[in-house]
Amino acid sequence: MTIPPRRQPPLSPGAVIGVLGGGQLGRMLGEAASRLGFDLVVLDPEPASPAARVAARQITAAYGDADALDALGRVSDVVTFEFENVPAASVARLAAGGALVAPGPRALAIAQDRVEEKTFLIAAGAATVDFGAVDSTDDLRRALAELGAPALLKTRREGYDGKGQAWVRSADEIDAAWAAVGGRPSILEARADFRRELSIIAARGWDGSVAIFPLGENRHADGILRTTLAPAAADAATAAAAQDIAARVLNGLDYVGVIGIELFDLGDRLLVNEIAPRVHNTGHWTQDGCACDQFEQHIRAIAGWPLGPTAPHAAVEMTNLLGAEVGAWPELAAAPDARLHLYGKAEARPDRKMGHVNRLRPLSADAAQD
Ligand code: AMP
Repeated sequence: MTIPPRRQPPLSPGAVIGVLGGGQLGRMLGEAASRLGFDLVVLDPEPASPAARVAARQITAAYGDADALDALGRVSDVVTFEFENVPAASVARLAAGGALVAPGPRALAIAQDRVEEKTFLIAAGAATVDFGAVDSTDDLRRALAELGAPALLKTRREGYDGKGQAWVRSADEIDAAWAAVGGRPSILEARADFRRELSIIAARGWDGSVAIFPLGENRHADGILRTTLAPAAADAATAAAAQDIAARVLNGLDYVGVIGIELFDLGDRLLVNEIAPRVHNTGHWTQDGCACDQFEQHIRAIAGWPLGPTAPHAAVEMTNLLGAEVGAWPELAAAPDARLHLYGKAEARPDRKMGHVNRLRPLSADAAQD
């Protein structure tokens, strides 16, 4: 496939942004893109995806469909993705065919494999928990002896929201843990004795410019994000350490776009848990806490526009609406401090992310000065 020469960044309004994935992140990217005068074209296997309903067009096909990828590449001035499990080969095909792709195939490939990811992070100077690659029960036994129990076994690939994970509390649990991850290539991680979980949302442009939002503090239940409080209360050293990590990761990946970086706060230092090469659920607070939210920031970055400001104008408590919780929309719509964001999904299956609500709080004097 050869893609006709495209407009180069900075893209003018009227340019077309292609998105692999039509979920809620694609939908909110589409809202931001449309505000800046761009058209969105979405590729998703499900017809009438959440993003398709705010897009100019959806190509309904599997992510690995070569013809569909070529069609997306032909119509798009830049192509991005909204979830990290799109096949790396699809992104590589688009890039090899001459499409402008951001973030690039390398960032995606690294983020798709927990061993590659941690190896990259350590080389970039961003600390992680100790870990060992596990391809068999023998590897698991060796890694457990080295790291100590309890340790967390995770599949190397395709884990999300705590799925594909099993704690190993002693050598007696090796077989059960190996079965729990389906005997797939895995990673054993030392347990992080964290005080709290933080995340940082950051962006980098084609010109290497970097913009970093304030930290968010995240609470999970059953592996799924429930709330983010932002800006998180953090001393200057913690904020500076998080910013240093974000810059190292962005520059080390030669990244273009928005990235989400999940952190464990151990009290005296931060460890990176994982990186998500896309806009991130823990960055939804920026929609109502910042003048330029993470979605607009991503569109700006990939379109070659100047990155927007990241200073907060309000504190936000973001709460995910999972499954039937979305039924609370009438009360939430009536609450003056609540900004409601619904994804247009018809079926409220248990734990499905149906929307979120950003509750506005006064900004503390400290956060306002940052
Ligand atoms: P992950 O899918 O890697 O984001 O993990 C889901 C959740 O499991 C995290 O948000 C943490 O609460 C917990 N977790 C993951 N890795 C570790 C670890 N090495 N030590 C302790 N808790 C962990």
